[in-house]
Amino acid sequence: MRTILLGPPGAGKGTQAETIVNEFSIPHISTGDIFRQNIKEGTTLGKKAKEYMDLGLLVPDELTVELVKDRLLKDDCRNGFLLDGFPRTIVQADALEEALNSMNQKLDYVINIEVNANLLVERAVGRRICKDCGQTYHMTFNKPIKDGICDKCSGELLQRKDDTEETVTKRINVYKEQTEPLIKYYTQKGIIVNIDGEKPISEVGEEIVAKLRGK
Ligand code: ADP
Ligand code: ADP
Ligand code: ZN
Repeated sequence: MRTILLGPPGAGKGTQAETIVNEFSIPHISTGDIFRQNIKEGTTLGKKAKEYMDLGLLVPDELTVELVKDRLLKDDCRNGFLLDGFPRTIVQADALEEALNSMNQKLDYVINIEVNANLLVERAVGRRICKDCGQTYHMTFNKPIKDGICDKCSGELLQRKDDTEETVTKRINVYKEQTEPLIKYYTQKGIIVNIDGEKPISEVGEEIVAKLRGK
């Protein structure tokens, strides 16, 4: 299954990605995670990406598209993949289509997680990430058993640098301007699946899995 997760910052893409990839045994490809890993390792790509990410802006298409194209050529993507946070612009979407065409592949679904703007800031500002394993929590909606400690690996939970109210608000505006047009783009292609992302995490997950299984 070849799938994309679309939705504004804080919609729950990363959270639901975990359920989807377990259910369908496909790799989770998050461009945000790949950039953060590069920043951690101090690579050239990481240094460039950080300048944009800290400001809540999109990393330029040239950098992002090449990265994803290389990733999709890896063996583990042969039977499908879940793209999380890519594409985010029409240019990226066109480039993805071209890359898939050249591999004789096509997208099956675009899962569009819908959440009202007024809920997004609270979701993103309350987000905490395990510094060791990357697991996502929320201070109110998805708390760890012990404050500040990862349930899975006992790692320390940190806040992302771009999860401040100011930068999240900026990212939501960038989403509206540059990414939201993709909803129409994929609706016209007839592959969009709209999901109510305001329900509790487990219900959203069940709804996505049911729709992907064609129920
Ligand atoms: P969120 O899910 O909260 O929107 P991500 O982890 O997906 O956050 O992305 C964090 C940041 O990484 C974005 O604000 C942007 O700067 C950069 N980024 C991630 N994916 C892309 C992409 N496809 N194109 C451009 N920039 C991206
Ligand atoms: P995205 O990848 O779209 O930016 P995340 O999956 O990281 O979003 O979720 C953002 C924050 O909101 C996280 O702290 C997560 O635990 C929380 N969250 C995700 N889905 C829900 C939900 N359905 N209800 C309440 N909180 C949620
Ligand atoms: Zn952890």
